Amino acid sequence: MSKPYAAVAERAGHRCEYCRAPEVIFNLPFEVEHIVPSSRGGSDEESNLALACRACNLFKSDRQHAKDEVTEEVAPLFHPRLDVWNEHFQVDRDEGSIRGPTAIGRVAVAALQRNRDVQRIARISWMKLQLYP
Ligand SMILES: [Zn+2]
Repeated sequence: MSKPYAAVAERAGHRCEYCRAPEVIFNLPFEVEHIVPSSRGGSDEESNLALACRACNLFKSDRQHAKDEVTEEVAPLFHPRLDVWNEHFQVDRDEGSIRGPTAIGRVAVAALQRNRDVQRIARISWMKLQLYP
């Protein structure tokens, strides 16, 4: 493992910093991603790196903002170093879905496609294993 992975994964508690997926049940290490994408001037400093599951990294891509369907205004995506997860997201334990009570939460749920069936079913399984949230 690379040095950034070890430090970033430990800081994140081996959970995806965007959806809180537990790395321990996956058969590949999670990915180290740039919060502010390199293509948009983001640095390689650890403060700009986050641990992300494949799904969150794939759907986030190089985005930093998305349109909030409630306010119809552009809002920033969740920033793991600046935002507090529990303030922007709530887990529905029956459905396995993640809800965003704030604009930051809503755009992250939508942009990162967090409530696709495959994700919800995985979360329900993780909860049965007491690994989530
Ligand atoms: Zn994730």
